[in-house]
Amino acid sequence: MKYETVIGLEIHAEMLTHSKVFCGCTAEFGGEENTRVCPRCSGLPGTLPVLNQGAVRLAVKAGLALGCEIHPYSAFDRKNYFYPDLPKAYQITQFAHPICTDGAVDIGEKTVRINRIHIEEDAGKLVHDDYENVSLADYNRCGVPLIEIVTEPDLRSAEEARALVEEIALRLKYAGVCDARMEQGSLRCDVNISIRQPGETKFGTRTEIKNLNSLKSIVRAIEYEYTRQADLLDAGRPVIQQTLHFNENHGTTKPLRSKEEAHDYRYFPEPDIPPILLSDADLAAIRDDMPEMPADRLRRYTADYGLPEADARQLVADKALSDFYDAVIAVYPAYKPVASLILVELLRRLNDAGSTVGELRFAPADLAALVRLSETGEISKNAAKEILRTLFEAGGHPDEIAEANGYLMNNDTAAVEAAAAEILAANPKAVAEYRGGSQKVFGFLMGQMCKKLGKSANPQIIRQCLAEALERPEA
Ligand SMILES: [Zn+2]
Repeated sequence: MKYETVIGLEIHAEMLTHSKVFCGCTAEFGGEENTRVCPRCSGLPGTLPVLNQGAVRLAVKAGLALGCEIHPYSAFDRKNYFYPDLPKAYQITQFAHPICTDGAVDIGEKTVRINRIHIEEDAGKLVHDDYENVSLADYNRCGVPLIEIVTEPDLRSAEEARALVEEIALRLKYAGVCDARMEQGSLRCDVNISIRQPGETKFGTRTEIKNLNSLKSIVRAIEYEYTRQADLLDAGRPVIQQTLHFNENHGTTKPLRSKEEAHDYRYFPEPDIPPILLSDADLAAIRDDMPEMPADRLRRYTADYGLPEADARQLVADKALSDFYDAVIAVYPAYKPVASLILVELLRRLNDAGSTVGELRFAPADLAALVRLSETGEISKNAAKEILRTLFEAGGHPDEIAEANGYLMNNDTAAVEAAAAEILAANPKAVAEYRGGSQKVFGFLMGQMCKKLGKSANPQIIRQCLAEALERPEA
């Protein structure tokens, strides 16, 4: 790369509260258009906002998850702009006094500084495609609580930007702040990007790409915008500071509007909402309520359970899968066998079927029962895979499936010992060869044993009994 890329992100995350941030309407995704609105979130005159305290707690958790300083005093401001998805013509946000500042998130060896996290309300949604020359407004999303996470311009490549969004999304999921479903818009990313000569310390003129809603789009938009800006500089032309829209179909950016400065928004303190005051006791209570974070879970899996680092990372990276693993080992704590069954067999089936852990037809306790059957030697490894297939396709209980399909192995050692004695008596020549030092007849005798005992016998026990019988001095 000829130029150095300088990237900062603004990540909008919808918080998982039941109701909206300033009224009692549901904050759930979806719903028929304009059915989840009330006079307050549709901006009718004379209504007053009431702050949802659940949103405050979640914003503090986001701050803790991203290593921020949490401020005992924060306050709301009005950001004024006229746009059809914003019926009040102003957005309530935090400008001068955000709730969290000065965080840090590591991606690999690199630390990315978090400038601030503030609380704000989401806007509605405009639908442009249903009728020609007509845009429709859906206000269901108006007033859904958001946090905006603003990073310092510490990122230097599209890959770093992707890694940071993944890491932040994972931490927000663990903290219970946001479900981070980018395809539903519950996590969206604006990218600020400029380029400069390597070694230069001054920033170049930046552009802002709005509302990217997948990791792939973030990478593609950054790569496209780098090339566009580099071509301009190579041709001796300036980069113009502006806000851009990324077109997913064409993979290109196009200007939305010239970039506003803060003073364009005429920010002023929101007069209808008192400031947020957090006491030490409030903060301590929220801190105590923080769920286990990915780094702690990784440590538990590797240090306490002895899982290989790669397996532990794979589990932790998928919170739903990792929660499922925890639920299984809570019933039957065979840490490694459970991890291996989930990461190999179960994950393969989920990927093939294109489904998720949430859609499984069986409970964690069923998988625990299956691993127990396998670990105690009641079923073979192959039978375990077959039972998992049945569970996956139709559900059921492993014990019943094993019973019904004849997977339960005969662990009656006495019967196997009797069979060994019979086989040895019937094959004196092979026995003499084995005792004379020929190991290869062992396989032949094993075969005879298996034939006699059928597939329900445990091969490990057969092998052991046969070896013992052969080692025993002749009567
Ligand atoms: Zn409402």
